[in-house]
Amino acid sequence: MFTEKFRQRCCPICNSAERKKLYRQSFAYFSNIGFLEGYDVVICGGCGFGYADLIPEQSEFDLYYQKLSKYEHRDADGSESPIDSRRFIDVADLIAHFTEKNTRILEIGCATGTLLGVLKRNGFRHVQGLDPSAYCAEAARRLFGVEVMVGTISTMTTAATFDFIILIGVLEHIADLDQALAKLYKLTSDGGSVYIEVPDAAGFSCCPDAPFQQFSTEHINYFSVHALSNLMRRHGFELQYREQKMKPQTGMQFMPTVGAVYRKSCYGGDDCFNYDAETEAGLTLYIQRSKLIDKGIHREIDPLVDGQEPIIVWGVGTHTFRLLKACRLGEANIMAFIDSNPMYATAEYQGIPVLQPCRLQDYPYRVLISSRVYQNEIVSQIRDRLKCENELILLY
Ligand SMILES: [Zn+2]
Repeated sequence: MFTEKFRQRCCPICNSAERKKLYRQSFAYFSNIGFLEGYDVVICGGCGFGYADLIPEQSEFDLYYQKLSKYEHRDADGSESPIDSRRFIDVADLIAHFTEKNTRILEIGCATGTLLGVLKRNGFRHVQGLDPSAYCAEAARRLFGVEVMVGTISTMTTAATFDFIILIGVLEHIADLDQALAKLYKLTSDGGSVYIEVPDAAGFSCCPDAPFQQFSTEHINYFSVHALSNLMRRHGFELQYREQKMKPQTGMQFMPTVGAVYRKSCYGGDDCFNYDAETEAGLTLYIQRSKLIDKGIHREIDPLVDGQEPIIVWGVGTHTFRLLKACRLGEANIMAFIDSNPMYATAEYQGIPVLQPCRLQDYPYRVLISSRVYQNEIVSQIRDRLKCENELILLY
C-alpha cells in the first residue's frame, strides 16, 4: 500500500501557497513499482503555473528513476528508436548555433547518450552526461564512447562547471525545482548557456494521446512558454532563443514542446513574473477533452466487468494505473497483466501477477490493450513476434 504522507507544495516558480485545483489524478498501487497514489493538478494563484500537488519528496523520485528508469531501451541494447534519434539530430543542429566545438557540454538526464553521440560526431569534443540509471551510463559508453556520471541534478556533487548544459524532458519530472535550478546556475560557467526542452502544457489538448496521460506518474510540472521563462528568469537565466513545435514521438504521437536557449545572467535572478493565463486555459480544455474520450473507454470496459469473462491486460504504467482507478477495470476478472519492461517482472496488483510477453501463450483469454501510443506496436508484437491468436480488445 501507499504509506507516505505527501506534503503540499508551494508554487515551484513563484513560491505562492495560493492554488486552484483543476483535477485529481489517481493511480492503482502495484507492488515493487508503485510510489505515487496520485496528485491534485493545480494552478498557482500567484503566477498561473500548473503543477502536481501532494507528491512525495524529491528523494523518492530520485530512487524511482534510479531503480525503474524507462529510458534504458534494454530490448534494443540501449539504442533509441529511429524517430527519437531523428529528433536528436535536429536538436544537435540547433545547439550548434549557440556554442563552439571546444566548449564543455553536459547533458542532464541523457538516457543512453544518443544526443551526446550526435554532438560528438558533429565535432564537439568535450561532451559528458548525467543520468540516474547505471545501465544508461554503461550503454552511453558502449554505444558512443561518451562518459556519463550516474546521478540526478539533486544528487550530483561535482564542482566542475560547463559552458553549455542540456535538459531535454527533465524539468517536468523534478519535484524540487528550486534546488535543481540553483544547482543548474552553479554548474553553468559565467557566460554559459543552457538548452531546455519541455512538453508545452498549453497545447496538451492538441496531442492525440490517451485521456489524462499527460498527468503521468512522472510528469509533475506543466510548463507553458511563459511559465518556463518565469522560472528561468527567477533563477538568473536570460532568454536567447525559443521555439514551439509539434515533435514526433515514438508510437505515432506528436507532442507539443517548448525548446529554449537561456544565457546565464551575471546579475542573478529576479522575482518579476508575467502572469501566465495560457496554462489554466490549456489544461482546462485538455481535461474536458479527456473526459469525453473516457466515456468511450467506459463503454468498452463495463461489459467486461458485467460478464466477468477472464481477460489479460497488456501494459502496466500510467495508462493502466489510472484506468484501474478511473473506471471499473479493477472489478474485471483479470487473470494477469503483461508488460515488456523486465523491471516490472516481480510486480503484482492485488495478487494478480505482471508477466513477461512470452507468457501470453499460457493464456487463451481475450487481451485488453491498455495503451494508446503503443497500441499498434503491441498488436504486431502479439501477432507477428509471439504468433498468438488471442482475441484483442482495442480502446482506441
Ligand atoms: Zn506561482
